[in-house]
Amino acid sequence: MNDTAIKRALAAKLLRSANLSWDDCEYGAPQIDPKRPYGNSNVPDDIREKLGMEDLTDDDCRAIHLQAFIVLRQKLHGMECSCWVCKDRADALPRGVE
Ligand SMILES: [Zn+2]
Repeated sequence: MNDTAIKRALAAKLLRSANLSWDDCEYGAPQIDPKRPYGNSNVPDDIREKLGMEDLTDDDCRAIHLQAFIVLRQKLHGMECSCWVCKDRADALPRGVE
C-alpha cells in the first residue's frame, strides 16, 4: 500500500475507533491509549477488523496507524498551520511516517 492519500483516508476512518482517555501524568492531557489504540492490544488485528479489511498486512496496518498522527494533526491544526508541530519539528513525527 503506497498511496498516502488512501492510507490517510483509512486512518481517518480508523480514528473513529480510537481508545480515548485522560492521562493524569503531570498536568494531564487527552490521549489515545498507546498500548490499545483501537481497543485491544493486538493492534494489527484491531485495524483489520475496524476497517473491515482482513487482507491488510502487518506493514499495511502500521503504515495506516502512523498516518493517524498526520490526520489528527491536520484536523486539530488545519492544513495551513505553521506552528512548531506542523512545520519546524521533524522529530515530532513518529518514526517511519512519510
Ligand atoms: Zn500546527
